[in-house]
Amino acid sequence: MKNKILSITLAVLMAASISACGNTANNTEVSAETNAPSETSAPSIAETSESSESSDSRRLSIVVTNFPEYDFAHQIVQDNADVTMLLKPGAESHTYDPTPEDIITIQNSDMFVYVGGDSDEWVNDVLSSMDQSHMNIFRLMDAVETVPEELVEGMEEEAEEEESAEDGEEEVELDEHVWTSPVNAMTIVRKMSETLETLDPANKDAYEKNASDYISELSDLDKEFQDVVSSSKRKEIIVGDRFPFRYFCDEYGLSYYAAFPGCSTDTQASAKTVAFLIDKVKSDEIPVVFHIELSNEEMCNSIAEATGAKSELLNAVHNVSDEDFKNGVTYVSLMKHNVEVLKEALN
Ligand SMILES: [Zn+2]
Repeated sequence: MKNKILSITLAVLMAASISACGNTANNTEVSAETNAPSETSAPSIAETSESSESSDSRRLSIVVTNFPEYDFAHQIVQDNADVTMLLKPGAESHTYDPTPEDIITIQNSDMFVYVGGDSDEWVNDVLSSMDQSHMNIFRLMDAVETVPEELVEGMEEEAEEEESAEDGEEEVELDEHVWTSPVNAMTIVRKMSETLETLDPANKDAYEKNASDYISELSDLDKEFQDVVSSSKRKEIIVGDRFPFRYFCDEYGLSYYAAFPGCSTDTQASAKTVAFLIDKVKSDEIPVVFHIELSNEEMCNSIAEATGAKSELLNAVHNVSDEDFKNGVTYVSLMKHNVEVLKEALN
């Protein structure tokens, strides 16, 4: 039903936006035409508009779906191109639906970045209905190796999965949270930068330098996580919440228990799941139970209360609050917080 409405919206929008959407070459033509007559009527305004329009038309427009993509792209281009994040700061990333304006924004972009998982399945419908000839599409899940979502002992099974298991069809759902591993982030940034350098040769050197500086920051971060884990007493974390940390845990050799696999849409865990996690915290003497960002923290808090463990945020960096966005928090700054809480949780 949702897809049907989306298709209709798309058909209408595509018809309406044919004249609005143009590639860089078209924009240049348009600005040349509009500037010509105004030269005689109002030279000073024409000069201003000519210089701003021609510099705007050279600026690359990058449109991304979530915060990690926004931050990675922004670190590479800095002030040399425009980066637009479709997800509003503070919004839940798994239930995002594009507005008609968002679809036009995507259509008019030079580069569109999305994850490619369950949460942004809408992208397939949107892209298949638009002319992609001028667009460059960058899918995070194509940039690195992916693994399936894993159901570990004690996790709540998703209702959908139970149904398909009854039908006898086994649908493997790939885990979309590829960015939670800083090593994956390095690969993504390198590949994103290579694409941007091709699309915007005038800024090639700047992008190359920014990407290489940023990759060395990510590499330092990776080293910090490695040091924390290699010198820690425990190699196990417990997340009383959804579990978007598969790539992160695999990277650093951590075992884990959590309430829900991946970013399940379920938010109510059964008494059995909560009881299992409480027993685990007690038997393994776990000092810190984690919840993720923008969560109601309820389950994590009740496990913490029942066990005396501390409740802390382990940030999976799906999105940031409005305030954090305005204050310019970054993937690295949020991950540095994770280094600190991990130290506590593993010792
Ligand atoms: Zn998620």
